[in-house]
Amino acid sequence: MNASAPDFTRREFIKTTTGAVAAAALGPTLFSADASTASPPKMIGIQVGAVSFADEGVEPVLDIFQDKGSVNTIVLTTFTYGRGLAGRQIPGKPFPDHGKQESDASFFHGGNYATPHTQFCRHTVLKQTRAPDHGDLDIVSAVLPAARKRGMKLFCSIEDAWRADVPGVKEVTEVDLQGRRTATSLCLFHPDVRAFWSGLATDLCKSYDIDGVLFFNERNGPLLEALGASHAQRIASSHVTCFCEHHQKAARERGISFDRARDGYRKLDQFVQASLKDRRHTDGYFVEFWRLLVEYPEIIAWDRLFDEGKHGVLAEVQAAVKAVRKDLQAGFHIEHVNSFNPIFRATRRYDELAKKADFLKIVVYNNCGGERYAGFIRNVGSTVFRDVPKDELLQFNNHLLNYVNEAPLDQLATAGLSPDYVFRETQRALAGVNGACKILPGLDLGIPTGRNSRKASPDDTQAAATAALKAGADGIIYSRKYSETRLANLAAGGKAVREFQA
Ligand SMILES: [Zn+2]
Repeated sequence: MNASAPDFTRREFIKTTTGAVAAAALGPTLFSADASTASPPKMIGIQVGAVSFADEGVEPVLDIFQDKGSVNTIVLTTFTYGRGLAGRQIPGKPFPDHGKQESDASFFHGGNYATPHTQFCRHTVLKQTRAPDHGDLDIVSAVLPAARKRGMKLFCSIEDAWRADVPGVKEVTEVDLQGRRTATSLCLFHPDVRAFWSGLATDLCKSYDIDGVLFFNERNGPLLEALGASHAQRIASSHVTCFCEHHQKAARERGISFDRARDGYRKLDQFVQASLKDRRHTDGYFVEFWRLLVEYPEIIAWDRLFDEGKHGVLAEVQAAVKAVRKDLQAGFHIEHVNSFNPIFRATRRYDELAKKADFLKIVVYNNCGGERYAGFIRNVGSTVFRDVPKDELLQFNNHLLNYVNEAPLDQLATAGLSPDYVFRETQRALAGVNGACKILPGLDLGIPTGRNSRKASPDDTQAAATAALKAGADGIIYSRKYSETRLANLAAGGKAVREFQA
């Protein structure tokens, strides 16, 4: 382990934390005492990873959450190999004004930051997932008692984000159009993968006195992958998945032809590659694309099969959580593409999602939203809608999405999306679930963006939090992680909460 790593053993961690408790007891704790007796009615959550508690101490971090952010719920990153939710600031991006000002690239690994218990991974090859980043620190055991003493709730977040060198991963990844296994995308129809997620949710709910889990899975189906129809920069039309034996079996059971689906996606790949090379069919790009869907309805059917696998996992995670105790809650993160891609929106019925969830964390990151929305427009504007000038495509898409008064394409990344976007997307979700589950907008408090793109300011944060609360949200979740969030932004969120509740 590198010298810069927080070389914590469990005992040292508790010692440090106890010191912090003693220090806190000497200082003013008036607000903390208030917070422990009178919980605000809405869930005010914050996503935070183990490294922040290791770097700054449990009690000092919880003090900041309560005093600055009016936070009453900790969304603790418990399982992921991804850097969006875990680790310090992403390498190369500026550090916020707290925590260690040093990259964790030398020791960041990811995995399960709690203690995996073997009886819950009996039915999966994915058995060795303990995160080694902080020695034998079990982050849930470390944070939970301190949170409870303050009357705070704690949810464990688990994310479908993997590394290729995790034992077992290579056996359960998706298979692409050419029959090759992908590096880290797990097949959502593979029985071992299904058993892993249910087992992990059960383990966390049985082994710790938590309030529930929040599950993240940002993966898209093959149609969106082929078109690059999200904000992601890649258009991976030749790497679409999954065509493995488990998907073939699921397709057979539903009467979907595997051969026709594969042929359709090969044609779609040819269409995308020709579009990117500016080779226009005489009938135009959109007509050629739509014709493909008409001639190969298996393209849509296979994409829906992916969604079925993904949503099957969600349903099983909720069932696993409820099997432990009925009052435990399962929530799902609904990714950003849902708010700016109408094709994706059509595949995500809020009323259907509400049947599988106690709450939905809907992404309405409006600061980085400008950069991401512009990326989406450029992606679809380079294939299906290539015949449309991109600024006009943006205006047209704004109408489809019910966005009003957002910046033109050339200013979108710098301007970000407006608080009005946060308000409208929150209202759309509330209307969609119609009271069947809670809606918790996720707010962008400092997601790194490009050099000239919008960065969250305190005013932005206060406006976004106010917009979400005024729209009628059941709470908010500060995102993506405390280790990328400036304290002034957190304080501005807290100010919005206090003013709303006053
Ligand atoms: Zn598969």
